Amino acid sequence: MASRTGIDTFIIKTVEWCNLDCTYCYFYHGQDSSFEKRPRYLPRRAIDAFVPKVIDHCRTHEIGTIHLTLHGGEPLLQKKDDYLWMMEQFDKIDAAGIRTIRKCTTNGVTLNDEWAELLARYNVHLGISIDGSRELHDSARVDLAGHGSYDRAVRGLRTALKWADKGLNVGTITVLNPDEHGGDTYRHLRSLGVELINILLPENNYVLPPAARTDGRTYGDVLVEFFDAWVAEDNERVDIGLFADITRAVAGLPSFSDQFGFAPVRVAVLETDGSLQPTDNFRACADGMSELGVSIYQDSIDKLYNHEFFQLCINQQKFIPDECKSCEFVDICGGGRITSRYSKEDGFTRKSVHCDALYRIFGHVRKTLMENDLMKS
Ligand code: SF4
Repeated sequence: MASRTGIDTFIIKTVEWCNLDCTYCYFYHGQDSSFEKRPRYLPRRAIDAFVPKVIDHCRTHEIGTIHLTLHGGEPLLQKKDDYLWMMEQFDKIDAAGIRTIRKCTTNGVTLNDEWAELLARYNVHLGISIDGSRELHDSARVDLAGHGSYDRAVRGLRTALKWADKGLNVGTITVLNPDEHGGDTYRHLRSLGVELINILLPENNYVLPPAARTDGRTYGDVLVEFFDAWVAEDNERVDIGLFADITRAVAGLPSFSDQFGFAPVRVAVLETDGSLQPTDNFRACADGMSELGVSIYQDSIDKLYNHEFFQLCINQQKFIPDECKSCEFVDICGGGRITSRYSKEDGFTRKSVHCDALYRIFGHVRKTLMENDLMKS
C-alpha cells in the first residue's frame, strides 16, 4: 500500500538554463525571477547531500517508490558524465530498497542517439514537448534567436522512438492551444508515432491569465475536440493521462490528477543552489513564493514537508473555493489545481482560472460515458 505521508516525487533541476525561449514558459516568463541568481548546473555535491536524505525520508514515511524527474531549463544540456555519475548515485536509493522511477522532461532539441542510449540504460520515462503541427509548435516554442524548434524537436522524438524497445519510455507533452483544432493536434501527434500523450492546460492563474481571444475559441473546445478524436480512434494503446483521470473521476473511481481534484501534491523541487522547494507551478503566481528557506545542504527533507506552505499543497482539498460549492462537479474537481486559483487579492481562494474548460470537459466526458452505457445515469 502506498504511503500516505511524505514526499514521493522529486523534480531535480539539473540545468537551470534553456536553449529555447518558449513564450508561455512559466519558469522564465512567469512571476518568479529567482532563476536569475542560481547556478546554471546542479553541482555534484547537491546530489551527494540529496541521496542519503531521500533514503532517510522514505524510511521515515515508509515510502517504497519515488519518482525522480530530471528537469530544467533543459536537462539534456547537462554534461553526460555528470548525468551518468548522478544516475549511479540514484542507484544507491534502489540499493536501499526504495524503487526509483526516473523521468526526464525535455524540449528534444539536443536529443540524439548518444543521449537516447544513456537514457534507455536507466529506463528513463522521457516526455518530449511537442505542441502540435509545425505551425502551432513554432508559434510559441522558439529558440533564443526566435526560430521555431519543431524540426529539431521532432527529430529528437523520432530518435527517441527508435529506442523505445531498448528501455526508453517515450511520450509527448503538449500544452493545449485553441489556435489549432484539438482533433488536428491529436492526429498530428499520432502521425508522429506517439502513443503516450500528456496534455496540459497552460500554467495560468488570475495574475497570469489566459490570453484574451477574439475568435471565441476556448480551452474547453480544444479539450473536447482532443477527447473526441481519441475516442474516435479507439486505440487502446494510446494513453492520455488527463482523460484517463477525468474518465475515472466522472465514473466515481479514484483519480490522481495534478490538474484537478483532491490528490495531495507531494512534490519537491531540488534547485541548482541546493534549495528545496514545493512544486514548480508556484513560480507562475508570485516572485519568491516557493522559496521557503530550506536547503538540501543544511536541512532534512522533512523540514520542507512539514513547512506550513508545503502542507497547504498537501491539504489543498480542504480549501474548496466558495464559488465551487454549488458546482455539480465539485466532488471531482475540487476547484482545480491550486496554483490556477491564485490571485493577488484573494490568494488561493478563487475557483480555477481554467474553470470553464474543466466544467466543459467533465460534462462532455460524462455525456460520452452515458451515451455508451458506461455509467449509471
Ligand atoms: S468546474 Fe469550476 S466551479 Fe466546478 S469545481 Fe471545478 S473550478 Fe469549481
